[in-house]
Amino acid sequence: MAPQRIVIENCAVATVDAHDTEYASGHVILAGDRIESVGEGRAPGGLDGVVRRIDATGHLVTPGLVNTHHHFYQWITRGLATDHNLFDWLVALYPTWARIDEDMVHAAAQGSLAMMARGGVTLAMDHHYVYPRGSGDLTGAIIRAARETGVRFTLARGSMDRGESDGGLPPDFAVESIDDALAATEAAIDEHHDASFGAMTQVAVAPCSPFSVTTELLGQGAELARRKGVRLHTHGSETVEEEKFCHELFGMGPTDYFESTGWLGQDVWMAHCVHMNDSDIAAFARTGTGVAHCPSSNARLAAGIARVPDMLAAGVPVGLGVDGTASNESGELHTELRNALLVNRLGPHREAALTVRQALRLGTYGGAQVLGRAQQTGSLEPGKLADLVLWKLDTLAHASIADPVAALVLGAAAPVTASFVGGRQIVADGRLLHVDEDAVARSTREQAQRLARIAARD
Ligand SMILES: [Zn+2]
Repeated sequence: MAPQRIVIENCAVATVDAHDTEYASGHVILAGDRIESVGEGRAPGGLDGVVRRIDATGHLVTPGLVNTHHHFYQWITRGLATDHNLFDWLVALYPTWARIDEDMVHAAAQGSLAMMARGGVTLAMDHHYVYPRGSGDLTGAIIRAARETGVRFTLARGSMDRGESDGGLPPDFAVESIDDALAATEAAIDEHHDASFGAMTQVAVAPCSPFSVTTELLGQGAELARRKGVRLHTHGSETVEEEKFCHELFGMGPTDYFESTGWLGQDVWMAHCVHMNDSDIAAFARTGTGVAHCPSSNARLAAGIARVPDMLAAGVPVGLGVDGTASNESGELHTELRNALLVNRLGPHREAALTVRQALRLGTYGGAQVLGRAQQTGSLEPGKLADLVLWKLDTLAHASIADPVAALVLGAAAPVTASFVGGRQIVADGRLLHVDEDAVARSTREQAQRLARIAARD
């Protein structure tokens, strides 16, 4: 039996394939969960099994956006510590974060995912590393929220074991023992990780950062990930303070420290990577280590500007990240496309830093590469998963912008008329199809208030 086909036509198409192929007026045919064909002009006639034909006049079709770094739980602690640098911000927020529970995390994950999905994200990730004792099944709550929303998802099962008494930043009551962290991470992989082509859920091993994790947990975490064949994720080289911390504690900078613990490799991606010298970038390129570039969060916390043009020139895989919404209250990936371009043009490469098409590539194919899914998603090519977005560009905000890719990257956040994950539609006319947005808004507010009340009692 022929698979069910969806035909999308009369639209601009940016495939983000290896040649940046674009069609001013083209079509995309979906068959089941895959892309069957992409091309110029209208779709050919006489196709069997067409269940839906979308006249996408006035739209740009792109691969779905990919978010490579986030902390969903922070959705219910937005708007706090708004004028701090990273370390002061963390110290201000850890005591509140240490009081999260399963209901709070589920609501926060729903809020984070809803915001991303309605803004065109089809592959999301959550780096969750706060597991207070007795807080319930946080991993299960996050994965449930991803399934409800319908996005493809990577859970980076985080951990912290370097509390204040070990010279770390988090309070002792917010950290786990090494054995507990590793056992829970392995259980999450066994229960939830799917290695198949069309996987909706994958799990990565993700100790939080050099200043909240011991060398032993980093080393044993890397061994666990490689034994299980899953990816590794952490924060790296985010601030000058972190660099100083690494030099004082380990006698070397963050990249050398990561290399010494087995944390460079093509199965690793790291968030931020702001303070990298030429030899650090060369080490990432040599080992194939990926980067989650988070320009808005880096700006909000005054961390600095990552050297993305130099990374790309060296061949480092780079994707974009929203980062947690306690340091990027909007929680939208569109903003990161734009800010990646703007922020990097303020650096030494000026107008040559990034093009609008490179910004779109970072937010799509680059992200898929960093999450280890570039064979499956991140560009519109026959045989890949049908993860794509129809952006409406014919209204007031965008109708007079000459180039549709420039309209998407530089213009206002474009409305999403439709978003598909594996051929299944998850957004229609800017609204989520499988989750009640208004109910999510209410429950996130309730849970944020509950968390604030509990934290105020401490
Ligand atoms: Zn982060």
